[in-house]
Amino acid sequence: MLKGKTALVTGSTSGIGLGIARALAAAGCNVMLNGFGDPGQIEQTRAELAKTHGVRVAYHPADLSQPAQIADLIASTVREFGSVDVLCNNAGIQFVAPIDEFPPERWDAIIAVNLSAAFHTIRHALPYMKRAGWGRIINTASAHGLVASVNKAAYVAAKHGLVGLTKVVGLETAGSGITCNAICPGWVRTELVEKQIVARAQQLNLPIEEAATSLLVEKQPSRQFVSVEQIGQLAVFLCSDAAAQITGTTLSIDGGWTAQ
Ligand code: NAD
Repeated sequence: MLKGKTALVTGSTSGIGLGIARALAAAGCNVMLNGFGDPGQIEQTRAELAKTHGVRVAYHPADLSQPAQIADLIASTVREFGSVDVLCNNAGIQFVAPIDEFPPERWDAIIAVNLSAAFHTIRHALPYMKRAGWGRIINTASAHGLVASVNKAAYVAAKHGLVGLTKVVGLETAGSGITCNAICPGWVRTELVEKQIVARAQQLNLPIEEAATSLLVEKQPSRQFVSVEQIGQLAVFLCSDAAAQITGTTLSIDGGWTAQ
């Protein structure tokens, strides 16, 4: 379906981003990977994706808290593949503390990676999409882009901001063949969440699996984790013609979290 198109997925060396990159590669996209990690492991992932799906896959190590590196990420993607047709703003970080104990440098880092990075990737990539008359911008927001939880001031503020940015870009590109939407997952068992499960296990003196269940019970009525494959398929759907009139909105994939 997406044969020959180029997808840039930020934060795709693990978790949800890798799930999205896999699904887009399976749909025929050439893929630019980005994110941190062990260079050998990243190269293995890159080569495996290319081989499995018969597409071209490259990797760029841009630190998304650095606007100059983001400019280079977009320029390198265009140099490598000729365009950026699908832009997935997915990289994200978390820090948990009450606001009066929240380290200002963690606030700045979370706003930079979870929100400002999307502003920069979009402003650099949009001219290429406009020229092509087609584009898909998919922002990984969160249930925390729609509702709040305690101790997540920076994350909740950044994700609400990302939902706002999604709406503006949806309006500014309406009717141009370009859409911009935000996926809002509930709990997905990735590294980002595993750290919170371990912290909960220590705090409540619970075995890891019981801590994982208690995390789900608190927020996610399905009591099941969302999978990265399910989010990947949602991203592929947003790239389809069926989704051409879905823009400037949020798609929840949260086991009922935000229905409450
Ligand atoms: P993860 O930790 O597995 O993946 C995060 C990715 O972002 C990694 O590839 C990491 O290397 C990359 N990254 C972090 N800082 C970066 C930086 N400065 N520059 C470039 N890359 C950077 O976590 P995940 O759960 O897959 O998170 C992916 C996205 O999904 C995040 O935006 C997160 O907020 C969001 N999200 C996650 C959940 C969940 O339950 N896991 C729920 C809702 C939303």
